[in-house]
Amino acid sequence: MIPEFKVTVFKGDGIGPEIMEPTLDILQHLQNVSNKYSLLFSTADAGAAYYLETGQSLPAESVELARSSDAILLSAMGLPDVRYTDGTEISPQIELRKIFNLYAGVRPVTVRDGKNCPLIRPNRETIDFVLIRESTEGLFYTQGKGEVSKNEARETLLITRDISEKLFDFAFSLAAQRKATGSGKGTVTCVDKANVFRAFAFFREIFYERSKNFPDINAEHAYVDATALWMVQQPWDFDVLVTENMFGDILSDLGAGIMGGLGLAPSADIGDEHAVFQPCHGSAPDIAGKGIANPFAMILSAAMMLEWLGHRHKQAQMLLDSVLLKDAVNAALIDGHCVTGDIGGSATTAEAAEAVITYLASQ
Ligand code: NAD
Repeated sequence: MIPEFKVTVFKGDGIGPEIMEPTLDILQHLQNVSNKYSLLFSTADAGAAYYLETGQSLPAESVELARSSDAILLSAMGLPDVRYTDGTEISPQIELRKIFNLYAGVRPVTVRDGKNCPLIRPNRETIDFVLIRESTEGLFYTQGKGEVSKNEARETLLITRDISEKLFDFAFSLAAQRKATGSGKGTVTCVDKANVFRAFAFFREIFYERSKNFPDINAEHAYVDATALWMVQQPWDFDVLVTENMFGDILSDLGAGIMGGLGLAPSADIGDEHAVFQPCHGSAPDIAGKGIANPFAMILSAAMMLEWLGHRHKQAQMLLDSVLLKDAVNAALIDGHCVTGDIGGSATTAEAAEAVITYLASQ
């Protein structure tokens, strides 16, 4: 009997279903080849289009389906004109982070072939670091509930000891894992603004307290403004960066820019019991329905899901398939014939995904 894992699939809005379908085909291909694990996909309703139809953006049944699954795969949700009555956009992807306490938003910044990286790397340095964005509190704490009067608007930034400790432990463990596999330098940098805000001094203090449990990992800190500068000038120096929600939101788009665009930027939102894997980009309504969306960020997010499940359930084949999938995207980028318009090619979504399958079939 091969081990089975339930995966809840949110196909989402805009280009969401267009990039999800080929990703599921690729995952199916991988499990068919090895026959060492089985992913059971169930689709859950949610999103802007669903809200227009039903008046609900994230129904309770979808939350329960996700809760009962081993992993959650999500494409992108939301459409700019679909809003709640208070004027804010519907965003079930953010609600899921809060519902399942997914405090660690993991955003790898890996420059794959360099051709789309806008930076000059004097010695062809390797750019491969991970940004961890706290994803349940920080300046998003009062999201949609800020106080606005005629002359004043207020939002609250919340940093809690409980979440910060979990977040930092996650960051140090990831750095240790990267160091052990030779992909990281064994350093975690706390990115904050502790010189101005007491809340960030608190954040940094907890960071150094937790670092004592990881004596083999270097703990450093940096201000967020300087980090933005260094991400452009010397990103090859970073290993694991950990930061507050809003800072992480902004820096992760900078990270996507370094990689060559949002179409190459995967992510995972991870908690103690659950995890959502989704590209960093949104539903791209400007290109939806044209069949030209880049599926690589979605496919790389699926690779992160295999890696997470593989570690969690000690499934060596899933870990191997995760590496294989990343290699397949890399090969497609190096070959360059089957890449989509956002990264300088003219391939369709289907052609780009087919290039990945062709590589996998050749291994
Ligand atoms: P977006 O990421 O959807 O698009 C920004 C630009 O990048 C657009 O020009 C788009 O065409 C391009 N782009 C994005 N993904 C691409 C891909 N895979 N291939 C090719 N080009 C791609 O950001 P936006 O326009 O600000 O937001 C659109 C909607 O998505 C909004 O409703 C927003 O709230 C939502 N959104 C959702 C998520 C999520 O589900 N995680 C994240 C961000 C935005």
